[in-house]
Amino acid sequence: MRIGHRPQRDKRVTTHVALSSRALGAKGIYVDTYDDVLEENVRSVVDRFGGDYSIKTGVSWKEAMRDFDGVVVHLTMYGLTVNDAIPKIPKDKDIMIIVGAEKVPAEVYQRADFNVSVGNQPHSEIAALAIFLDRFTGGEALYSDRHGKMTVVPNERGKTVVENPE
Ligand code: SAM
Repeated sequence: MRIGHRPQRDKRVTTHVALSSRALGAKGIYVDTYDDVLEENVRSVVDRFGGDYSIKTGVSWKEAMRDFDGVVVHLTMYGLTVNDAIPKIPKDKDIMIIVGAEKVPAEVYQRADFNVSVGNQPHSEIAALAIFLDRFTGGEALYSDRHGKMTVVPNERGKTVVENPE
């Protein structure tokens, strides 16, 4: 759940929040402000590179958090250390991860089951999300096969892209 998205100012950052979360194993993203261009861009990547990833914009974070039947993890530099928090977060439940843009409302800190910091310095929602997901999943999503129209094959030098039959 991406809170505080401003379509003009944040278009690249929120796109990267979505793409990074997808690459690192998330199943989808909710964005609070409606943004059809963002939806189209992310769906186009999913269409080409495959996988099971959804995007929905114009979603109220209050309702999404209230209705979510799982564990809510809010990433904030003020939270518990990532090393202390990860062993406490259940692996057998759905997880909703909240990231902000500017100041995050106090209610989010209250409702979250875990307020988790990735270091105690201010940085970026993209970096915080990527590091958290990599640690939480043990990196297992990075090279998983998404069965898309194309697959990028690791190559020491140059680019190898395989077109997959429909
Ligand atoms: N001053 C803002 C605040 O009070 O939340 C910081 C906003 S920061 C530019 C945008 C988002 O990046 C935050 O809402 C948080 O989700 C994430 N973030 C930034 N630094 C972080 C850190 N050290 N640990 C975890 N998340 C962080």
